[in-house]
Amino acid sequence: MDRKTLIAEFKKYFDIRELVCRDVYKAFGEKAWQFFDLQFLQMLLITRRDINTEGMIVNNWNVGKPYSQRGLRCNICDIPEEKTKAGQIYMSAHCNGAALDYDVPGLTAQQVRQRILYNSDKFPFKIRLEGGVNWVHQDIYDDINSTQKVTIF
Ligand SMILES: [Zn+2]
Repeated sequence: MDRKTLIAEFKKYFDIRELVCRDVYKAFGEKAWQFFDLQFLQMLLITRRDINTEGMIVNNWNVGKPYSQRGLRCNICDIPEEKTKAGQIYMSAHCNGAALDYDVPGLTAQQVRQRILYNSDKFPFKIRLEGGVNWVHQDIYDDINSTQKVTIF
């Protein structure tokens, strides 16, 4: 699926503001789609359309709620800015259009992770999940050392 088709599919499920911070939306508006890796878009579409059919709560700043850094994080978002000011390197997949954090209504994060693992055959490439956190972090970083379809890190 090419980028144009993927984005058209996406718009059935997500508003761009759910996937980027306020800063990026303010500067780029609807054109902010361009910052997402194609494989990330494919992962997210499969995850939302075929697995988490109840819906996914990513950012909700656009409806007056607090989440703004669950998708793409720009360099002036709080987390990257604090790391930079502290002189620390920060290579989070959130800064590369390759990650998101989310919840599924009615399920715990652990239940969602188990469901992603159970459905791992649906992904045509390897993905990662963060373990031991009470939200779901999912990304497409691949250091090629893992032979698992889904790496828990
Ligand atoms: Zn930002």
